[in-house]
Parts: sequence; C-alpha cells; structure tokens
Amino acid sequence: MRVSVLRAAGDLEVQERPDPDLSPHEVWVRVSSVGVCGSDIHYFEHGRIGRFTVDAPLVLGHEASGEVVRLGSAVSRLTLGQRVSLEPGVPDFTCSQCLAGRYNLCTGMRFFATPPIDGAFAELVTIHEQFAHPAPDHLSDDAAAMLEPLSVGLWACRRAEVTAGSRVLITGAGPVGLVTAQCALALGASEVTVTDVNRHRLQLARDLGVTTTVDTGITSLVQAVVQVWSRGCNLYACSGGGFEGDPVVEGLELADVVAPGTFGAEVVVVEVAAEVVEAGRGSDSRCQMMTRMDRATATRALSFPHRLTRRR
Ligand SMILES: [Zn+2]
Repeated sequence: MRVSVLRAAGDLEVQERPDPDLSPHEVWVRVSSVGVCGSDIHYFEHGRIGRFTVDAPLVLGHEASGEVVRLGSAVSRLTLGQRVSLEPGVPDFTCSQCLAGRYNLCTGMRFFATPPIDGAFAELVTIHEQFAHPAPDHLSDDAAAMLEPLSVGLWACRRAEVTAGSRVLITGAGPVGLVTAQCALALGASEVTVTDVNRHRLQLARDLGVTTTVDTGITSLVQAVVQVWSRGCNLYACSGGGFEGDPVVEGLELADVVAPGTFGAEVVVVEVAAEVVEAGRGSDSRCQMMTRMDRATATRALSFPHRLTRRR
C-alpha cells in the first residue's frame, strides 16, 4: 500500500509499504478522507508539538473516514463495505483509567499520528472495531472524517453543560474553536462570542452564526473576556497552538485571573499537547479534553452536520 511518510520536518514522501497487520478485533479500513489537523502542521513544519517529537519516520493524519474492507476473525460489530468514521485514540482497555470508564485518559493510549504511532495518510489502516463508528449514508466521506474534531467541540460543550440560553465565550477561531462555536449554537446557546486576531477567521465565525466576534488585535483579550464574563458565561474554550506568543497563552493566563466558578462560569480548555495547559491551569480540563468519541458522543456528532447545515 502507499503511505505518505513524514521523514523529517518539511520532508514528506509517498512510499510503498507492506499492508498492515490485522488482529482478531481489528478491521482494515480503506481510507477515503483525512483532515489536516493543526498537530499535523506542527509536525510537518517543526517536527514536534509540545513534548512529542518526530524522531523516526511518521505517517500523519488522524481525522479520517473510510470503508471497511477486511474483518478480523473476532469482529462482530462491523460488516464489509461499511463506511466508518475513525476514532483515532485507541486505549489499552486494561489500565486504571480505562477500567474506570475514562478511556480517553488511558496511559497506554495509541493515538494515530502521534510518535511513534502512524496515522491515516495511507491507503489502509487497521483499527479496533469499537473505534470505527458506522457513518450513515447521508454523511459524506469528508464530513465523516470531521467527526473527530467535531467531537472535541461537542465534548467541550458537554463539559461546560452548554444548553439553551447559555452564554459562551471562545478564544480562538481556528477549526476547533469554530466547531466548538457551532456545537454551542446547535445546543441552543443564545450568545456565542468568538475572539481571534485573524479577520478572515472572524468573518467565517460570523458566517457560521456566532453572535459576537472580537478582534483581539484591536480590543485586548482581557477586555473582551471581562466584558462577556461579567454577565455570566458558560464556556471559556481556548483553542490554538498554545505556544509562546500565541494569544491563547494570554488567554490561559486569564484563566488564572478568571477562575472556574467565578460568575458561575465553567472554564474548559481545549488544547493540543501544550505544556502551559498541563501545568494545571483551567483545573483538570486539559486531560479531560482528550478527544473522546464514545458511542454517545459519536451518535450525537452524527446528528450535528444536518443541524449545522440547516443553520447556515
Ligand atoms: Zn488504558
């Protein structure tokens, strides 16, 4: 099979590799669509993200959909030809976190496209049958590939208990900030404020239906936060690279100022592999925010594209 291999920062090559192995509870998925995550871009441009570094050739891509083309001997949930959306973090099923039902915090997690685990920019991938979620016919391959980032936004909103009438503040109008905004709107939030320094992204946020945008290149993030926060706010979601100089870091410092519980607010930090978050700001939210597409989340996510489309 052909795979796209990141050999080093800035050095991608399409290579021929043997077909992957298949364990009894795994399936082969012929990949149809893969999203390019911010983490993929960091690996490509810098060879690292946070504490994860590319020390050996790595296949990128973890937001994927495809078709089941071969079944392991013990597979019972899926059938050949079924279209699926991949949940790219497969736990070990045995550690204390897994046994407590928090498999997204598994210490033995094997996450696609996170060194040394290869990702989905490949013709075929193997995945445990429980982590290939059947996609309904009305969902395109591209949309099915987006369920993983969408579930991040959904999980953030669930953590913050966003519901009808909620006021929501989201710092960062990158893809995850925008899916979080769309989830909040779909769940009935009456006010969704999104901040960013990028005018194009803020315009996109408005096109998607958010009620207020704040250009933090003009208005300081502190002002924006205090303004929304002072009226009570359900969600404070930081999304972005989380590196020094990033406006998100400024936001995280704000998370210290505006502590969880202030004005009845819930702080949820959505972040990728950033040490600043792991330092404990935003309470335990970073570790709780590891992507989780349990069946309830996946089912709900599957119902979202319709609602989001209607809204537009
Ligand atoms: Zn585990």
